[in-house]
Amino acid sequence: MDLTRRDFLKLSGAGASLLLLPYGLPAGRLANRFPLHKPVGETPTTCCFCGVGCGAIVAAQGDRVVNVEGDPEHPVNQGSLCSKGMGLAQLNTVDGKVNPSRLQKVKYRAAGSSQWEEKSWDWAIDEIAKRLKDTRDGNWVSEDTDGHTVNRTEAIAALGSVFINSEEAYALTKLVRALGIVWNENESRICVTSTVTAGSESVGRGPMTNHWIDLRNSDCIMTIGSNAAETFPISFNWITDAVEQGATLISVDPRFTRTSAKADLHLPIRTGTDVALVGGMINYVLENELYHREYVAEYTNASFLIDPGFGFEDGLFTGYDAATGSYDRSTWQYQPDEQGLPMRDDTLQDPNCVFQLLKAHFSRYDPETVCSVTGAPMDTFLSACQAFGATGARGKAGAILCSSGSAQHTQGTQNARSYYILQLLLGNIGVAGGGVNGIAGASNGLGCTLQGRLFHVLPGDLPMPASGDESLEAYLDRVTAPPSQMENTISPWTSRPKYIVSLLKAWYGDAAAERNGFGWEFLPKLGGNYSFVNLFEAMDAGTIKGLLCWGMNPAVSGPNSGMVREALGKLDWAVVVDLCETETADLWKAPGTTPSDSQTEVFLLPAAASLEKEGSLMSSARWMQWRYQAVDPPGEAQSDLWIVDQLVRKLKSLYGADGGPNAQAITELAWDYGDPPDAHRVAQEMNGYDLTTGELLPGLAGLKEDGTTSCGNWLWCGSYTEAGNMMARRDNTDQSGIGLFSDWAWAFPCNRRIMYNRASVDLQGNPWNPDKPVISWDEQSESWAGDVPDGGSPPGKAYPFIMKPHGRALLFGAGLVDGPLPEHYEPWESPVRNPMTSVQSDPLLKTWGAVKGEPDNYPILATTSRLVEHMHGGGMTRNMPYSVEMMPDMFIEMSEELAEAEGVVSGDRVVVESPRGQIEAVAVVTKRLRPFSIDGQVVHEISMPWHWGYAGLSPGDSANCLTARVADSNTMIPEYRAFLVRITKGGAR
Ligand code: SF4
Repeated sequence: MDLTRRDFLKLSGAGASLLLLPYGLPAGRLANRFPLHKPVGETPTTCCFCGVGCGAIVAAQGDRVVNVEGDPEHPVNQGSLCSKGMGLAQLNTVDGKVNPSRLQKVKYRAAGSSQWEEKSWDWAIDEIAKRLKDTRDGNWVSEDTDGHTVNRTEAIAALGSVFINSEEAYALTKLVRALGIVWNENESRICVTSTVTAGSESVGRGPMTNHWIDLRNSDCIMTIGSNAAETFPISFNWITDAVEQGATLISVDPRFTRTSAKADLHLPIRTGTDVALVGGMINYVLENELYHREYVAEYTNASFLIDPGFGFEDGLFTGYDAATGSYDRSTWQYQPDEQGLPMRDDTLQDPNCVFQLLKAHFSRYDPETVCSVTGAPMDTFLSACQAFGATGARGKAGAILCSSGSAQHTQGTQNARSYYILQLLLGNIGVAGGGVNGIAGASNGLGCTLQGRLFHVLPGDLPMPASGDESLEAYLDRVTAPPSQMENTISPWTSRPKYIVSLLKAWYGDAAAERNGFGWEFLPKLGGNYSFVNLFEAMDAGTIKGLLCWGMNPAVSGPNSGMVREALGKLDWAVVVDLCETETADLWKAPGTTPSDSQTEVFLLPAAASLEKEGSLMSSARWMQWRYQAVDPPGEAQSDLWIVDQLVRKLKSLYGADGGPNAQAITELAWDYGDPPDAHRVAQEMNGYDLTTGELLPGLAGLKEDGTTSCGNWLWCGSYTEAGNMMARRDNTDQSGIGLFSDWAWAFPCNRRIMYNRASVDLQGNPWNPDKPVISWDEQSESWAGDVPDGGSPPGKAYPFIMKPHGRALLFGAGLVDGPLPEHYEPWESPVRNPMTSVQSDPLLKTWGAVKGEPDNYPILATTSRLVEHMHGGGMTRNMPYSVEMMPDMFIEMSEELAEAEGVVSGDRVVVESPRGQIEAVAVVTKRLRPFSIDGQVVHEISMPWHWGYAGLSPGDSANCLTARVADSNTMIPEYRAFLVRITKGGAR
C-alpha cells in the first residue's frame, strides 16, 4: 500500500492512541526529533494566531509552503489545529505562489497623494530615521515644569505588537525607550489589562495561573467572558477531556455559544453583570459554608483586621470624594499592631476582619437579586452555584476561564477580582485543575507585553521611571517594597535593584556604571498616563506628530474607530510595519476621507510572517516556545528584528555625526546582534550574563545589583543558559503524572507550570489532593518534589503568595482605585437603572467627554465577540482566502423576538447605529440570543464580531465604529462589550 506522508501521520496517530500515556501522548516518541535547523524541508513552528500556542510542522519546497499540519509531538495540540492554524500556510503561499496580498516591497504614500509608490529599503530607513530624529529633537523635553529631568519626547508614539517574537518586541522596546518615547502601547492594554491587574492585586501576578493541559484535572470549569471553543479552539480539547471524565462545564455568556453547546449548564447573563453573578456565587459559598476553611484562614488575608472606619453605603465605599471623583483609601487599610503589622483574628469572627466584611458585603447578592440584575434563570444559577461551590472540598478543583469578554468593561478589573475572590474562598488557586485563567488572546500577547510594550513598564514588568525619580536610588525608594516583617514571608520585590541594574547593563554595557547611576539619565521619565485612549486623544490634539505602528491595526481595534481614524489623519508621518496593507496603513482611504485632504506621510514596511523567521513566543499558558524559519520572506519583506536593527544602526550613525538631546541614549545603546541580526543573541541578552565570566546566567539567583551581571528581562533569566536554549526543548514525556510537561519548552516564572503551587499543600507540605499533587515535601531529601515551587523553603516556612506583602492572597485589597471589593455597577451605557444601589455606573470610570447614548434613542444593548475564522483586527486572516471563504461577511446576531419586532429576517441587511457612528451588516436571526427579563423589563441584546474593516479581501464595517471611548479606571481598558444601539432594516449596500 502506498502511503502519503499525511496518511502515515493519520495512521500513526490512530495507532498510537492504543499506547497513550496518561496525557494522550504516544509512547516511545523521540524527544528533540527536530534539530535546530531544518534537515528535510520540514520545520516545527508555533501557530501565530491565538494564545493556545499549538505546534505545527511546515513543509516547504523552495520558498513556498507546501503543507502545514499539527505537530503530533506537541503536548498541547497533539497534531490538531483549528481552522486558522490549518490556514497558516496561506500567510505565505496561495495556490503555489506568494499570497498576492503580501507586501513584497516598501511602499510610500506622500502627503496628499492618492497612491502608493514603491521604494527601496535604504531610502525608507534613511527617511524614517530622519523623521524620527527631527521629530524627537524638535519636541524634546529635558526638564518638566517641576524642574525634574525627564528626557522624553511626547511627539512620537509607538504601537504594537502582540504577534511578533519576544526577541523582536524586546529590541523594539530598546529602540523606543532610547528615543525617549513615552507613548508606548500594544493591544494588551485594550484586551486584557484588567484581568492582569486584578491578578496582581489578588495573588501577585496576572497571567493564567495554570495551563491548557491542566484543565483536564478540573472537576468543574466555568467559562465566563470567554467562548473558548471558538476563540481558543484547541484548548477546548482539554475541557472536553475533563467533561468526559465527569467534570461539569458551566458556560456563562449572553449568547448560547459553541462553548455553551458543549456545556452542562449555560448561564445567560446580560452583558456587563459579571460582578452581580459571581458576587451571588460568593454569597452562596459563604452562606452554605462551602469554602475551604484552612486555606482561607492560612493563605488569604481573611483574618486581617481592617480599619474600623471602613464602610460601604448605597454603592459607595468610605472615602469617596464627589468633587474629585476619587477615593481616599485611608480607611481601606489594615489595623496595625505595635510593630506596624496587620492585626489578626484567626477565628475569623471579628466584625472588622476581612472575612466578616466579605460576608456582609456579598450578603446583598442573594439569588433573587442576582437573577433580577443579570437576567439569569434561577434554577440554572443555583445549579451553577452548587456545582462550582462543590470544588471547595479537599481534593476537588474548579477552574475559571475568562478572556476579553469580561475584561473589556468599565468594571473589567473588578469582574476579574470577583473571580479571584471566589477561587480563593474555594481553595482553587495553586492546585491542579484550578486557577483563574485569564487568557491572553494573541499568540505572543504575554511574551511581547512583558518586554515593556506598555507605557508604564520596562521589560520584566519593572515600573517605568517617572518624573521625580531623579536618580536610580530615588526610583528604587519608590518601587521597592520593604520586606514584610511578618513571620514566614518572603518578598521578591526586594530584588528589584538587581533587576533594574542588570537591565541597564544589558542596554548600555560599559556606559552604565555606578558613577552615572548605571545610565539613569538615558531612560525617559513619565509625566502622566500615556495609555491607549489618551494616546489617541493626544494624536487628535496634534501633540503626537509621528507614529511607529508595529503589527497593530488600531483603525479597526480602537474604540470609536471613527475618532481613531480621524486622529491618524492628523499625523505628520506614520510608519506601519505589517504583512499586508491594513486599514491603519490605508488611513488616507478611510470611508469619508479624501486622499488630497490627508496630509499624513505613510511608510508601509513589508514584514516577515512567523514561519519566515526565528524566535520565541509565549503562549497564554506562559510557555515560551522557540520556533524556526521554514521559508524565506517573499520579495523584500524582512523580519521585524531586521527592521528594528536597521533603524537603530541608522540612528546611531545620525546621532554620532550630528548629536542631539540625550544623544548618548542612542549612541551608547548596546547593540550587537550580528548582521543580519540573530534572534539567539537577543534571547541570550534577555537571559543575561555573568559579566565577570562572560557566561550565561543559569537563573535569577545569580543576578546582582553591583553591575557585575546583565539581564535584559529578569523574567527570562534561566530561559537561555550555558546548557542551551531552554525554550527550544522538545521532551514531551510527562514525569509529573498531572500533565506539567516540565521539559517541554520553558515557562515563566522559573519554569513553574502552576503558579502559587505552595497553596496546593497544607502547612505540613501535604497536597490537598494526593491524587493530583502539584508539589509535595520529601522528608528524606528535605526538598520539594513535582513542579518548581514558589520559593524553596520547607513547609510552613513561607506563605504561598510570595508576590504579596505578607505572603497571603487578598480577598480584600486597597490597591484598586475604585473599591477594595467588587460591587455591581451598570455599564456606562445601559438600558436599565442599577437595581442594587442609586450609583448607576462605576463612579471612577473615564469618559473623555464621550457622548452617551440613552435608552430612549438607543434601546438595544449590544456586545462584540470573536470568530474562530478571524484574528483580532483581521490584518492577517482577512488576507487569507481560506478564512475569508469560511467567514466572508460582517454580520450581527439578533434574537427571533427582536427580529420580529424590527421586521427583520435572516439575510436582511440592517443598519446599526450608536452615538459614535453607524455600520451595515447582514442580520443573523438566531435562538442563540434571547431577550432578558431585568426587574420585569424586557432587554434585547445583539452581538457582532469586530474583525472587519475597509481593507483586505472581504471589506466590511467595523463594529468598533459603534463602541465608546469610556474605560475602566484601574487600567483604562475600554468598554467594548456593552453599549447601546438602535437598528433599522435596510442599508445603502
Ligand atoms: Fe491552536 Fe490557536 Fe492556532 Fe488555532 S489559532 S491552531 S487554537 S494556536
